[in-house]
Amino acid sequence: MAYELPQPFTGRHLIDGAWVTGRETFDRVSPSHGTVVSTSSKGGPEETDAAIKAARRAFDAGIWSRISGRERAAVLLRVADLIEANVDRIALQETLESGKPISQSKGEVAGAADLWRYAAALARTSQGDSHNTLGSDMLGVVVKDPIGVVSVITPWNFPFWILSQKLPFALAAGCTVVVKPSEMTPSSTVMMGELLMQAGLPAGVCNIVLGYGDPVGSLKSTHPDVDMVTFTGSTAVGKLITKAASDTLKKVALELGGKNPQVIFPDADLENAADAVTFGVYFNVGQCCNSSSRIIVHEDIAEDFVARVVALSKKVKFGDPLDPTTQVGAIVTPEHNARIDGYVQEAVAAGARLELGGAYLDVEGLGDQFYQPTVISSVSADMAVAREEVFGPVLSVLTFRTLDDAIALTNDSEYGLSAGVWSESVHTCLEFARRAQAGTVWTNTWMDGYPELAFGGMKQSGTGREIGKYGFEEFLEVKSVVMRVGRDSRAPWVTPRAE
Ligand code: NAD
Repeated sequence: MAYELPQPFTGRHLIDGAWVTGRETFDRVSPSHGTVVSTSSKGGPEETDAAIKAARRAFDAGIWSRISGRERAAVLLRVADLIEANVDRIALQETLESGKPISQSKGEVAGAADLWRYAAALARTSQGDSHNTLGSDMLGVVVKDPIGVVSVITPWNFPFWILSQKLPFALAAGCTVVVKPSEMTPSSTVMMGELLMQAGLPAGVCNIVLGYGDPVGSLKSTHPDVDMVTFTGSTAVGKLITKAASDTLKKVALELGGKNPQVIFPDADLENAADAVTFGVYFNVGQCCNSSSRIIVHEDIAEDFVARVVALSKKVKFGDPLDPTTQVGAIVTPEHNARIDGYVQEAVAAGARLELGGAYLDVEGLGDQFYQPTVISSVSADMAVAREEVFGPVLSVLTFRTLDDAIALTNDSEYGLSAGVWSESVHTCLEFARRAQAGTVWTNTWMDGYPELAFGGMKQSGTGREIGKYGFEEFLEVKSVVMRVGRDSRAPWVTPRAE
């Protein structure tokens, strides 16, 4: 290792505009470098309650919820500029905590600025409609109000990006928030808090509590002062949050797991498809909700296609996340690496064929919290590797004969986050897109995302949508205002009208 790591980052809670040091702390050990890279205050019920109450007071005072969209947009635009000015610092910390390559951390942080700018534009578009056909003396107006205090709970795999899929949209709508980042990657959220303060966000509008799912996340899901929970993470925790929030009937928006297929037809551009499949499975070491961890390929081209993917897999650069040329970094924890290996060994024992990889990867000077690029063929649809989120660099290959078979295999999953189709036929692509049960369908491409487009899942991949105008509207309540503007048409119920 020809470089020195920075001193561990110190993370504190942000409550009512003040940085608060907790009585206890927790450390994050870098998955790639094995040393402590951050020490954070560990939140408990007291800090969580204080943060939620601060958000409630700020909301009710109207210092953010009742100012104009133009004023809110001005703050969000300043945040976008500040993000761009701080990309290197935030990205380095993100890489040290998550193990992802530095080039991808920089892309994630810099790209998030665009979400803030897009949300700033939306802040000026909150509008309902008016109805003047209710009768000659009646006018109805449907207005949209911010929903209130929002609990934001995020995972470790894209901490800064996922925060930016939620926070600017909630703020644009006029909500106040309490954020809890993952205990594995807390620091970039703290850095975001610093930028929000610099940008002039009023105290109490965005609060941050660091710590674990229990008690911080669970209290944020049950507290009576919270109106909505927006969560990204595992389906198992999404279900816990839904149950916890049901006592107070909070709105819950969930972005959960996926088991996303790419379907390859014989008439596809196989070179492009193989490249996209390779990207789809190894990006972020496969620790992506949108990872295309299963491919469904036509029988006639299966052998050729697998050979192409294996050849490309051998060229992908795995290794030190701080090397700017690295494409694939470390696995988030040793326990998770063991889980990935367990899926692979179980599939092979059940008769699947290992085409490539299938073991831990030792990176010189950094140890073995890495996993080899792995391709498994002859996978049957009932194997765990084909049904569950492996969340590692492991591709399962299934085959099909007809379009109906391919769609049946695609939809044979409890998840419905994303799906892809590769074919030169517009008819094949459109039919697949209409019949696939997935929140996003990519045709002849994979994992492109834009702030303009809604993102979210069907079935057990989630509820609600993020980003785009649909994501913005999740943070708005609809209210009808019914106005009587004359005295002509309504007969009195009790008191006769004076002539
Ligand atoms: P996780 O569910 O373990 O944790 C996510 C967050 O929930 C963390 O902040 C954690 O501390 C918190 N949490 C844990 N228990 C809680 C509880 N009882 N109440 C409230 N909060 C609690 O997920 P993870 O391991 O951090 O992330 C990986 C998962 O996230 C994968 O399943 C992946 O597919 C999913 N994910 C989905 C999307 C999407 O947009 N659909 C994006 C990224 C990741």
